[in-house]
Amino acid sequence: MVLDDLGDSLKGTLKKIANAVHVDSKLVKEVVKDIQRALLKADVNVKLVLELSKKIEKRALSEKPPAGMSNREHVIRIVYDELVEILGDARELSSKKQIIMMVGLYGQGKTTTCGKLATHFKKKGLRPALIAGDVHRPAAYEQLKQIAEKVKAPFYGDKKEKNAVKVVKEGLDKLKKSNDVIIVDTSGRHKLEDDLIEEMKDIFKTTKPDEKLLVIDAATGQQAGPQAKAFNEAVDITGIVLTKLDGTAKGGGAISAAAEVGAPIVFIGTGEHSGDFEKFDPKGFISRLLGMGDIKTLLEKAEESLKGKDAEKTARRIMSGKFTLHDMYDQMNMLKGMGSLSKVAEMLPGGFPGAAKKKNIDMDETEDKLQRFKIIMDSMTDEEMNDPNIVRSSRIKRIARGAGVDNKDVKELLKYYNMTKRMMKGFSGSRKMQKNLMKQLKFGK
Ligand code: GDP
Repeated sequence: MVLDDLGDSLKGTLKKIANAVHVDSKLVKEVVKDIQRALLKADVNVKLVLELSKKIEKRALSEKPPAGMSNREHVIRIVYDELVEILGDARELSSKKQIIMMVGLYGQGKTTTCGKLATHFKKKGLRPALIAGDVHRPAAYEQLKQIAEKVKAPFYGDKKEKNAVKVVKEGLDKLKKSNDVIIVDTSGRHKLEDDLIEEMKDIFKTTKPDEKLLVIDAATGQQAGPQAKAFNEAVDITGIVLTKLDGTAKGGGAISAAAEVGAPIVFIGTGEHSGDFEKFDPKGFISRLLGMGDIKTLLEKAEESLKGKDAEKTARRIMSGKFTLHDMYDQMNMLKGMGSLSKVAEMLPGGFPGAAKKKNIDMDETEDKLQRFKIIMDSMTDEEMNDPNIVRSSRIKRIARGAGVDNKDVKELLKYYNMTKRMMKGFSGSRKMQKNLMKQLKFGK
C-alpha cells in the first residue's frame, strides 16, 4: 500500500479521537502532536507541518460542531479537511483528442508512465499512440517500443535519427490522423541542463502539446518541489505524475512539496505494471490514508471495468441500501476485473475480511476465499440469494454439500455478507456522501 506507515499512524490517531470520553484541549494537543510526528516521519516539510497543526488545534478548540455532528466527529472532520487542504485541488486530464508531452529526469519512471497513460486512455475508449522522442539514450527506443506492444498502442520511433524534433514531427504526421491521444516521450538527463531545456522547447514548438506532464520519483522527497519549480519555469508544466509511491515511506515529502509549487499532481504510480496507476484526487487519497475508504476511486475503477450501465446500476443499488447476495456476487465479479485485490481492498471503507488491517496480507488467500464464496453462492437457490437470512442450519448443510465445502465456509460467507451489507447501509445512510457521489459520477443531479 501507499504510505503505509503514515496511514497506520493517522488511523491510530483517529481511533484515539473516536474512543475518547471527552474532547478537551488535552486530547486535541495530544492528537496534534501525533499528527505532527507522523507527517514529519513521512518527510512532509517542517514549516508546513507546523502550520497545519496550528490550524487543526485552533479550529478543534474554537469551532462548534455543526448540528447533528458530535465533537469527536467534528475533530476528525477538521483533521481530514486540513490534510486535504495541503494537497490542493484535484485536476483531471480531459478525455478529448490531445497531445501529451512527457518530461523529466533520468530513471524517474517516464517511459513506464507513457505506457500507463496509454492504458488509462484506452480504458476511456480513446486511441492512444506513442512517439519515442528520447533520441539520446539508445535503450529508450526499444523500451518504449516494447511498452507500446504490450499495451497494444501504435508506436513511432527512428532508432538512427538523433534529431528529436524531426522524429516527433514525423511521428505526429504518421499517427495524428488515426489516433486520439499522442503521447510524446522526451529525453531525460541527470540534471536539468541548458541543452535539455532547449530540446524540450523545440519539441514544444513543434508539437504544441495540450499537456506537459512532469514525471518525478516520489523517493525524491521534498526535492520534488525545487525540481517541479525548475521544470515549470522552463516549459510551463501542466501536471505532475508522481511515480513509485509504492516504494517509499517518505512520499509525503514529494506529494506536499509538489502541491506547494502549484503544479497539480494528476496521477500517481503505485507499481511497475501498467495498471498500477491512479488519478490523483486529494480527497480520496486522504480518506484512504485515514482508513475511510475511497468510494469515488473504487467506483471509477468499477466503471472502467464494467463500462457504463452496469456500474451505474451497481452504484444505485449500493446507495439504495438494498443489497442481496446477487449484488455481492456481481460485486465480486466486478472486483476481479479491477486488478490487484490488495489495491481494491484499500479503497473499501471496511476492507476485506482480515485484509487491510494486517500488513503483508496474503492476497492469494483472499482470492481463494472469494473464489470459494462464489462457488458457495452457485449452490444457493434464487430465494436464498435474495434473502440470505433464511439460510439456517439445514440449508447451510445442503449448500455446503453442494459446493463441496465445510459448513463453516458457508457461515463465513453469510458473515461477510452481513458485514458488507452493514457497510453499504452506512454508506447509503449518508445523504451528503450520496449526493457528492452522484455528482462526481454524473448519474443525475
Ligand atoms: P525513465 O528513465 O524515466 O524513462 O524511467 P523508467 O520508465 O525506465 O523507469 C525506471 C524504473 O522504475 C523501471 O524499473 C520501472 O519499472 C520503475 N518504475 C516506474 N514507475 C514505477 C512505479 O510507480 N512503481 C515502481 N515500484 N516502479 C516503477
